[in-house]
Amino acid sequence: MTDTYDVIVIGGGPAGYPAAIRAGQNGLTVACIDEWKNLDGSHAFGGTCLNAGCIPSKALLESSELLYRAREEFAVHGIKLAGIEFDVAQMQKRKAGIVKASTQGILALFKAAKVVGLPGHGRLLPGREVEYTDTAGKKAVLKAKHVVLASGSVPTPLRNAALNGREIIDSWGALELGSVPKRLGVIGAGVIGLELGSVWRRLGSEVVMLEALDSFLPMADQQVSKEALRAFKKQGIDIRLGAKVSGAVAKDGAVEVSYADAKGTQTLTVDRLVVAIGRRPQTLGLLADGTGVALDARGFIQVDQECRTGVENVWAVGDCVRGPMLAHKGKEEGVMVADLIAGHHGEVNYKTVPSVIYTAPEIAWVGETEEQVKAGGRPYKTGVFPFLASGRARAMEATQGFVKLIAAIDDDEILGVHIIGPLAGELIAEAVLAMEYSASSEDLQRTIHAHPTLSEALHEAALAADKKAIDFPNR
Ligand code: FAD
Ligand code: NAD
Repeated sequence: MTDTYDVIVIGGGPAGYPAAIRAGQNGLTVACIDEWKNLDGSHAFGGTCLNAGCIPSKALLESSELLYRAREEFAVHGIKLAGIEFDVAQMQKRKAGIVKASTQGILALFKAAKVVGLPGHGRLLPGREVEYTDTAGKKAVLKAKHVVLASGSVPTPLRNAALNGREIIDSWGALELGSVPKRLGVIGAGVIGLELGSVWRRLGSEVVMLEALDSFLPMADQQVSKEALRAFKKQGIDIRLGAKVSGAVAKDGAVEVSYADAKGTQTLTVDRLVVAIGRRPQTLGLLADGTGVALDARGFIQVDQECRTGVENVWAVGDCVRGPMLAHKGKEEGVMVADLIAGHHGEVNYKTVPSVIYTAPEIAWVGETEEQVKAGGRPYKTGVFPFLASGRARAMEATQGFVKLIAAIDDDEILGVHIIGPLAGELIAEAVLAMEYSASSEDLQRTIHAHPTLSEALHEAALAADKKAIDFPNR
């Protein structure tokens, strides 16, 4: 280890490690300091996403969805399975293997890009120096021409519902459960609540979600939200809107949750309670006095459009700065910053960051919702195509949901695409690309889509915006 680098990245999650790799690819000397600690005390790069977020949740979503399909769907295909059993320990073992392969992969990527990975804590000092405390507690002061802060986020705690690691847990705890709780309560019907609630519901838990807001998924297009709420309720998830949790007490292996709704004060008793009410930026111990790096009122590191903090050559990316808390948003910011540092072009188009909720049906969108377009006052048209009319979706037994495209009337620019249905998270990529290149709905209409594919639904939705859909009656 030398003590001087072109770039030091603090944080090795999906914002920090791509920043380090791209800086290395750009021929710069780079160190990436990361302090993630697994439950067994070991260190791993990859941050929340690889260790306790995107990857483990998708592994369990996949396993539990397979079980659900085997039980509920196979018979329709003429496949008869008797006595289907499942083994939570094996599901967890598979998940742990995927996480390990992913996090260890970063070590290989670092090696290839000549990034020095430094497990431990990083603290920015004034003058672009970084205090590095290794895992044994030994301190060193490193110097850098540029510092990239990528310290991520942590779950927002709920006052009066303190986590105890057993009955009251956060999303990480919900990913590590060793058996299926009979009754699972979830505070917050947001992205984490829905994904992890789906996992344990499919495995047999009675799931009750308490959501403070009166509206469901307010950030999504409301036509999608309505369809999603219907689907989740049909799956037996008890979603209680307008339910403001005031506290939770663990007693004798169960949890008593108090909440207020329109009818007054209510109590719910569950075996496990997941607190999933959002995440907040993590900057504890990151900034020494006098660095000049500013936080906003909500604790995010202040940055401009190009992730500059305003302190010369100090940058910040990912969940610790404004914008959606999404791995791919952080990754693009990390890459942009590493390219700008090297004097190359770098840019993030925040208008085309896709969102995906990996439930069944899957939900994905990019751009503005119909509600946002309407509020903006620009005249618009919409085209909707249901998967019920898609031959491929029918063949897949996945006809629930639709693709909705919103385009401007004046120049036909695509303003938003909203999908609920099979592989929505994959299908949205075409809409992202279209919007990135300022495509019109006519551009999509004139693009050949293979038949029979799910992507034809986007093609038909674009046609439907001009009442030219072929495979569904135009309204
Ligand atoms: P993080 O991933 O939080 O990484 C920050 C790293 O920096 C951590 O390792 C932390 O220990 C380290 N660190 C912090 N401070 C210091 C310091 N001072 N010194 C050294 N190291 C430090 N997003 C998606 O896009 N898709 C999904 O499917 C998805 N699923 C999710 C599921 C769950 C259950 C959760 C909790 C989140 C999910 N997210 C998902 C969100 C995603 O995980 C985050 O947006 C992403 O991890 C943010 O990346 P980051 O690098 O900014 O921060
Ligand atoms: P969220 O903001 O999606 O949802 C939190 C919900 O909790 C909100 O609906 C909020 O109204 C509700 N809430 C807040 N306080 C409450 C209270 N006292 N009682 C009842 N409800 C309350 O946050 P999250 O689900 O915790 O996820 C955190 C972040 O992680 C999100 O920003 C998300 O982008 C990211 N994430 C992304 C994915 C994905 O991309 N698929 C998956 C998981 C997490």
